[in-house]
Amino acid sequence: MVNSEVYDVTIVGGGPAGLYSAFYSGLREMKTKLIEYNPFLGGKLNVYLEKVIWDIGGLPPTKGSQVITQLENQAKTFDPTIVLGEKIVSIQKENNIFELIAENGNVHLSKTIIIAVGSGILKPTKLAITDSQKYESTNLYYKVENLEQFRDKRVAISGGSNSAIDWANTLEPIASEVTLVYRGKALRGHEAEITKLLNSSIKCYFNNTIDQILPTNDLTRIKTLILKDHELELATELDIDALVVNHGYDRENVLIEKPISGIEIVDNHYFKTGSGCDTNIAGIYAAGDISLHDGKINLISGALHDGLVAVNAAKTYIDPKAESYGMVSSHHDALQARSK
Ligand SMILES: Cc1cc2nc3c(=O)[nH]c(=O)nc-3n(C[C@H](O)[C@H](O)[C@H](O)COP(=O)(O)OP(=O)(O)OC[C@H]3O[C@@H](n4cnc5c(N)ncnc54)[C@H](O)[C@@H]3O)c2cc1C
Repeated sequence: MVNSEVYDVTIVGGGPAGLYSAFYSGLREMKTKLIEYNPFLGGKLNVYLEKVIWDIGGLPPTKGSQVITQLENQAKTFDPTIVLGEKIVSIQKENNIFELIAENGNVHLSKTIIIAVGSGILKPTKLAITDSQKYESTNLYYKVENLEQFRDKRVAISGGSNSAIDWANTLEPIASEVTLVYRGKALRGHEAEITKLLNSSIKCYFNNTIDQILPTNDLTRIKTLILKDHELELATELDIDALVVNHGYDRENVLIEKPISGIEIVDNHYFKTGSGCDTNIAGIYAAGDISLHDGKINLISGALHDGLVAVNAAKTYIDPKAESYGMVSSHHDALQARSK
């Protein structure tokens, strides 16, 4: 279906860069649409919802989940159109208007585009055990959304990355028992976190993987894990209440893998951008982790700054007479009126 309305700016990606672009684009009085693949907003912050973020200017230490809520509320200030659950798979230009084509066939029309797709669409690498997905609604977790749900539980964590180590250390004082199952011989990650883990009550099974899952009598939950030691050819039974799997993420970045014709890409990973987050295609900007320019910072603050810069560049592309940046919010009449 072709959405016949033409937007000034269409933002692809609803992470920090996309959300802040949506806010600022509204402040600059542009008709704005944001399109996100997931049924939820927040981008990579969804990977660390319970972690506390300290390095966003002016914000007290704040949990990832709360940062999402605040970014989302701010993004909605000027009522942009937000489309969830659509993956943009290609972009083309017809009669000076960009057409963004979604996987489901929808076509969105826009004068400019801000690509804010971060590292692409992240999907947790699933446990390679048949039918394990049926426990995803009960006690098999691919992300830790709420620490309290693990209180006094016997939790097994599968994985050996920084994140797995981090979750094990975070859950240790909350859960009744934490067990780490890792296929490698030794952990590799932040030294201090490994030392903390090895000196804690966390039980580690190295050279082990989860070989089988045994369910409860009603077949709804995981009751026991059968671990396999690949060196000793030993099997161990482990009774658990919850299993957290952290085997990394599969990434899909379709706009990089099948890029817009002629757009400049660096290292098969980033859009090369100039000082206005501008790509080499007029009217297309890239903001956040997907954008590579001098002085690029791959942090939330960097993503917000890119959003600001990209929106200003889009504004002056559409209207070359427009101010190069917007009215400061402390003197923006509509925002000040709302603050009263
Ligand atoms: C574990 C971890 C901890 C971190 N901790 C911190 C921290 O403490 N402080 C800090 O400042 N930064 C931290 N970061 C980095 C920070 O999360 C990123 O810099 C930031 O999320 C980048 O934002 P973004 O909007 O560019 O991309 P993302 O957050 O990656 O968002 C991109 C969005 O685009 C969507 N998307 C992708 N492709 C498409 C498509 N084709 N169609 C539609 N939607 C699409 C994705 O689904 C995603 O929602 C951390 C990162 C990780 C992984």
